[in-house]
Amino acid sequence: MAQILDGNRLRDQIQAECRPRVERLLRAARAPGLAVLLVGDNPASRIYVRNKIKACQDLGIYSETHTPPESAATEELVERIEELNRRPEIDGILVQLPLPPQVDARRVLEAVDPDKDVDGFHPLNLGRLVSGRPGLRPCTPAGILELLRRYQIPIAGRNAVVVGRSDIVGKPVALLLMHEHATVTICHSRTSNLEAVCRQADLLVAAMGRRAMLTAEYIKPGATVIDVGINRITDRQEAAAVFGGDPEKLAEFDRKGSLLVGDVHPGDVARCAGAYTPVPGGVGPLTIAMLMVNTIQAAEQRLKACFASV
Ligand code: NAP
Repeated sequence: MAQILDGNRLRDQIQAECRPRVERLLRAARAPGLAVLLVGDNPASRIYVRNKIKACQDLGIYSETHTPPESAATEELVERIEELNRRPEIDGILVQLPLPPQVDARRVLEAVDPDKDVDGFHPLNLGRLVSGRPGLRPCTPAGILELLRRYQIPIAGRNAVVVGRSDIVGKPVALLLMHEHATVTICHSRTSNLEAVCRQADLLVAAMGRRAMLTAEYIKPGATVIDVGINRITDRQEAAAVFGGDPEKLAEFDRKGSLLVGDVHPGDVARCAGAYTPVPGGVGPLTIAMLMVNTIQAAEQRLKACFASV
């Protein structure tokens, strides 16, 4: 049986390690502070933000949520961010994506002070990532590397295949794996013979947003498979096709009316991989844990001078 890489357990471990760092900041100066900008009323975004705020509350990190309306203009959001940039007690600024279509997302993200850019999306932090210099890293890719490290899964010298080339997941995770000395192939919707490329992977990262797309033929037997995808199935027939062999899952579908599935086929990965992240409970919980780590790191950097006395 494949080893399950348990993101919930690691999240608890990482958050437990955050507590003394928050206490030290409190003793030295004040709690770290995170401001979240949630534009409009995308229900999925609201849930993500709620979970982020709850994690802050659990750790004693100060947080505030700004909720401009769906109709907000780019200029208005840039001004809001500039205000947050100026406030000394705010260490981290997070712009929840996606932004409404009329907003120039690039301009908004570039307005965030790079020292407060806890999502790691500012071009300066992306440049630091490319050149392997210290800086704030995007949370999901950082969580994946943390998971591999904590499970002592070797990276150096291995063939890593990343399916997906988004700025948020695919590209940064590929860069982080390359810095850890993997030989990295990045695939996307135009890759020829994806199946054969994936089958070369000792380490396969799936980040396409395609329900259960990577089936057994894509997985090298014994590979480590990291499934970043979070997709919701609402059709019972599709649920039966994907989770056919798992009556518990189908009962869960009947209770809830939907099920989450990753980008990798859940039954096939359990059968073929050496180790894998489940969905839910794999990569997802680590994203929020790494946001907490980034917020604390930003606060520590900004309050460096106060530490001399503690
Ligand atoms: P995205 O911006 O939509 O990018 C998807 C990438 O996958 C693109 O590069 C696309 O290729 C590629 N792709 C799409 N269909 C493909 C196919 N049939 N074959 C090969 N490549 C294909 O998505 P994202 O923001 O990176 O997110 C990916 C998934 O991760 C989503 O399910 C999302 O919900 C999930 N996610 C999870 C977390 C977490 O915390 N666990 C965080 C972020 C995202 P092209 O570039 O050629 O279009």
